[in-house]
Amino acid sequence: MKTAYQNIIRQYWSDVDSIPSFVGGQFIHGKGDDIVIHNAHDGSELFRYSDADESITQKASSAAEIAGKEWWAMTAQARGRIMYIIGDKIRQNLEDLAIVECYSSNKPLRDAKVEVQKVAEMFEYYAGWADKLHGDVIPVPTSHLNYVKYEPLGTVLQITPWNAPVFTCGWQLAPAIAAGNAVILKPSELTPVSSLLVATLAHEAGIPKGLINIISGYGHTAGQRLIKQANIRKVVFVGSPMTGKRIAVSAAERGIPCVLELGGKSANIVFEDADIELAIKGAQAAIFSGAGQSCVSGSRLLVQESIYDRFCEGVAQAAKHFVIGAPQDDTTQIGPIHNAKQYDHVKKMLEIAKKEGATVINNGLPSVPDSTGYYVNPTVLKGQNQMACAQEEIFGPVVVAIPFKDEDDAIAIANDSRFGLAGAVWTKDVGRAHRVADQVKAGTFWINSYKSINVASPFGGYGDSGYGRSSGLDALREYSEVKSVWVETARTPVANFGYSANLE
Ligand code: NAD
Repeated sequence: MKTAYQNIIRQYWSDVDSIPSFVGGQFIHGKGDDIVIHNAHDGSELFRYSDADESITQKASSAAEIAGKEWWAMTAQARGRIMYIIGDKIRQNLEDLAIVECYSSNKPLRDAKVEVQKVAEMFEYYAGWADKLHGDVIPVPTSHLNYVKYEPLGTVLQITPWNAPVFTCGWQLAPAIAAGNAVILKPSELTPVSSLLVATLAHEAGIPKGLINIISGYGHTAGQRLIKQANIRKVVFVGSPMTGKRIAVSAAERGIPCVLELGGKSANIVFEDADIELAIKGAQAAIFSGAGQSCVSGSRLLVQESIYDRFCEGVAQAAKHFVIGAPQDDTTQIGPIHNAKQYDHVKKMLEIAKKEGATVINNGLPSVPDSTGYYVNPTVLKGQNQMACAQEEIFGPVVVAIPFKDEDDAIAIANDSRFGLAGAVWTKDVGRAHRVADQVKAGTFWINSYKSINVASPFGGYGDSGYGRSSGLDALREYSEVKSVWVETARTPVANFGYSANLE
């Protein structure tokens, strides 16, 4: 896979072992501190590159400002056509993008293919919106014609995490440019490569040079510097709750708003009347796919007392049949934990859970053949909701199974969390399904399903899972300013502006 990766990258920049930024339509290598990325399968060094320095962040800021004006001066239809072409180019390059994502971001190849496909869909979906983001005419009680229109914010900053690099890149880029903005995107320093390629393909499709800029660098250096750039009008952050709060403070110091898409500890609730076979498969997919490194993971499994032991055993047993292996192996269903720091965190949380008295089923760090990498076995912890393993994000293939008595108890436990990103209920009782969906405090909720998301439907969190919404029409609103225009239409206008609300 290394050779395939290098052959793809050589079409873009020459030093394939390093990683540049992409600013004003050009690749520029940073001059800051070293950033090292490791191969999660064996711990070896994959890349070493230099953090984006101040000159890069400044260039990105100026390039975005100029390109944004050019983009907004185009017709909405022309912007939409270019966005369709971006989607098409992503489809044409799906295999290459998936290889790049797999090799440079430690993501299993089959997951990478699915995520690249979703990125194409995101550009196509928002391409359709580009000429439909129109306002309203408001029936005001005066002689005015009052209309409302949507305008771009200008230049927006997006900061994304390592767990879904290409997905979160497309997820935020597409609505931002559909609404007419220019973007500076800072991916995780651990996973910038796929974002660089998406930005390059967007330029090939015909966006103005500098409309999308990708900064390869650290958050505390390049990220913070970018927030301070005067022309950044909003920060859209996808990442951990701790960093999200830090970013909100920095943005507040500039008086600019944020969208925060943060972590979760989602409750997956199983009643005794559920289709148990289906619910077991759903519970496994909810936590073990992506090795649990998904913000919406069903990491708290709430199971009715009468089926608790049987259900936990079912989830743990079947989990043994997953293929755990190297990301580039096509048969791999569960890859390694992405990086050493996260691997240590998962191991630490398992130790804490044991000390707290959780019963571990199926635990053990697996010996994937020929690997010294960051692998963790799919694990079920039988525990209680007040334990740290049930309250803190583990972000690994570890589910905490918690027993509950009845519907009220299940809802109370589900809501006893500082997070509110997602959740699910498994039951054949339709009324109960809707009652639970109504009462669980979460931005996304599934009934007899898990993890279905689509760019057309809004996504975001309650509580410490963040604020603001991505996807769907809501994302376009997040990326827009709203302007209300008043036009006097009276034959003899009254000259008491602002004092008279009623001309009758
Ligand atoms: P992280 O918070 O460590 O990093 C996210 C981004 O913030 C990176 O680009 C990083 O460089 C940057 N950053 C770090 N410190 C910064 C600072 N001081 N100033 C500016 N930028 C800074 O998160 P992570 O470990 O990369 O990602 C995992 C987290 O992301 C998990 O908590 C997961 O739940 C969350 N996540 C949420 C969603 C969602 O949509 N809600 C989606 C994916 C991941």
